[in-house]
Amino acid sequence: MSIAELIKPHIRDLAPYVPGKPMEELERELGISHSIKLASNENPLGPSPKAVEAMREAAGEIHRYPDGASFALRKKLSGRLGVTEEQLVFGSGGDEILELIAKIVMGPGDEVVYAWPSFAMYPIVVKGMGAKGVQVPLTEGFVHDLDAMAAAVTDKTRVVMVCNPNNPSGTTVGAAEFDRFVRALPDDVVLAVDEAYFEFVRRDDYPDVVSLMDRRPGTLVLRTFSKIYGLAGIRIGYAICDAELASFLERARHPFNVNRLAEVAALAALDDEDHARRTIEMNTTGIDYLTTELHRLGIETWPSEANFILARTGGQVFDALLSEGIIVRPMAGFGLTEHVRISVGLPEENERLIKTLAEIRGHDPFPGEAAI
Ligand SMILES: *Cc1c(COP(=O)(O)O)cnc(C)c1O
Repeated sequence: MSIAELIKPHIRDLAPYVPGKPMEELERELGISHSIKLASNENPLGPSPKAVEAMREAAGEIHRYPDGASFALRKKLSGRLGVTEEQLVFGSGGDEILELIAKIVMGPGDEVVYAWPSFAMYPIVVKGMGAKGVQVPLTEGFVHDLDAMAAAVTDKTRVVMVCNPNNPSGTTVGAAEFDRFVRALPDDVVLAVDEAYFEFVRRDDYPDVVSLMDRRPGTLVLRTFSKIYGLAGIRIGYAICDAELASFLERARHPFNVNRLAEVAALAALDDEDHARRTIEMNTTGIDYLTTELHRLGIETWPSEANFILARTGGQVFDALLSEGIIVRPMAGFGLTEHVRISVGLPEENERLIKTLAEIRGHDPFPGEAAI
């Protein structure tokens, strides 16, 4: 028997996750410097300086195993969120929370309902357990089709995932439609709402899923320190859910899944309100700027409540940008061959992107200044 034959068929058949191209790799390939990466929804301001300082101080302690219960972080975050300490589960990034959910409820024969296009990790974790992903297409406006998702639930459904805001479209669902959806769901499925971008949301009718947990056990909210707090590289995220569901997730995780530096960084970042506020302000300005300028170039976009924007730039634009040292995320893997996802960058990065796009598309990048 070959090694490949030893591998479980559902693992052998997995399509690997394709991450955003690292800047170092692009610069090596093109022999350039000063490339910019607007591909992975990272915080363009960098991490909270307080988090960096906390990690520096903790570095001398990394010969010790971390606090497996994340006691200090649990205490602070539960107070902040108004939930009990037993309602929190920490993971090595939100991605690990997805894996833990998969591990405790998904197996061969099970179905998991999620929208598509949505977060690329969903099919990976679902198929990785041998379960079946039931992909419900977004509406024409690239919003979750919650009625169709509720209708897709069968007695084989174990989990329904809702990504709000949705990655890669940036679109959201509001409280009224979400409530209707929840009422249509049977109680014996896990409802997992991925709120990786909730801090960036502007609409005031954003669903308050945490308050739903008393009424509907089996509801889980996923959040991360990777996006607003700029801690993507140290890996920490968490789940908020009812204490019983949390107790099963706790059983499935490795005892030291959150490393020592990640815990202190997250703790410090929560206290750095200035960094969080500046991040949100810069993002809001960036989304508005990109939306206006992309429209000016005749490029269609979708209303984004996150830190990225989906844009229909036309085919080949990904490669053209790449050769100019600008990394965005191609969407061909989702069947969207004319679209790219652009993460909001620093103001000068956003401007460079727009200027380069204008040149690629043969527009005058500075229309107001053109001589007649
Ligand atoms: C970034 C992201 C996550 C979690 O990322 P981690 O870095 O693993 O915390 C989860 N869901 C969505 C939709 C994301 O975009």
